[in-house]
Amino acid sequence: MSAPRIITVGSVNLDLVAACETLPRPGETVTGATFAQYPGGKGANQALAARRLGADVSMLARVGKDPNAELALALLRKDGVDLSRIVEDEAAQTGVALIGVDASGENFIIVASGANAELDARDVEGAGPADAVLCQLEVPISAVIAASQIASKLFALNLAPAMPVPAGLLETADLLIVNEVEADFYGDALFRGDGLVAKTLGRDGSVLYRAGKEVAHMPVYAVPVVDTTGAGDTFCGALAVALAEGMEEGAALRFASGAAALAVTKEGAQPSLPWRSEVEAFLA
Ligand code: ATP
Repeated sequence: MSAPRIITVGSVNLDLVAACETLPRPGETVTGATFAQYPGGKGANQALAARRLGADVSMLARVGKDPNAELALALLRKDGVDLSRIVEDEAAQTGVALIGVDASGENFIIVASGANAELDARDVEGAGPADAVLCQLEVPISAVIAASQIASKLFALNLAPAMPVPAGLLETADLLIVNEVEADFYGDALFRGDGLVAKTLGRDGSVLYRAGKEVAHMPVYAVPVVDTTGAGDTFCGALAVALAEGMEEGAALRFASGAAALAVTKEGAQPSLPWRSEVEAFLA
């Protein structure tokens, strides 16, 4: 079977992470931190997840004309995500997330969305064709609405981070993906359309609904947990790939759960995203 074509419309960030003993209070300076930087953004993470899981992926996004852009796109480029539709914004900076994490794992995150906030419908119109379009809510809603109009088979929307969206958008999605916080935020509105809704429940697994009725349920796979960052993004990328390939719903949920389980066994978001062969070996 040929690889499904997936377009991801979403955010690209560079995550700047300082690890310190204790987080600073407002006005305080702490020293002695160690520093690392990683490519991130839900859009980029999900694009890379889908790519490593076997799809032909094109990323639609905006970055700045600055050195951070190349760092943020490095893994997408290395693993063969098509970046030809990425717009370099002359006036905005590449999105950055400033992250502080203390010895207990507690963190703070400040996101400067920069160029992500400038993505607009014109950047999306005319893209495609694609079997599936995968979006999140870290870019303007006008871009998400434009994305909903270019999918031929599957419009998948990860409602993260939770925020009010125009009436009608949820009903147009063939697949909505939410975690527990987002599920509470949207409530019954998730079930007004006749598409699929996937709810992830952290260590309690995941559930898939169609027309409000549960069609599949997966407990988590027991794995050694190293870092859960990226589990949600892996799950989204994997479910989109599986459904775009025409996998049956229960099998698709199992595939997404297996991929997400592998992501928690490694440090970081993008570096921990599993490859298709690893997921197949794990589920065999
Ligand atoms: P994040 O934003 O931290 O990436 P999320 O809140 O979007 O995650 P979760 O519900 O925490 O998403 O996790 C997504 C999926 O990842 C779960 O449904 C499950 O399949 C898998 N997963 C999460 N935590 C674990 C774990 N400890 N062990 C195995 N699988 C896990």
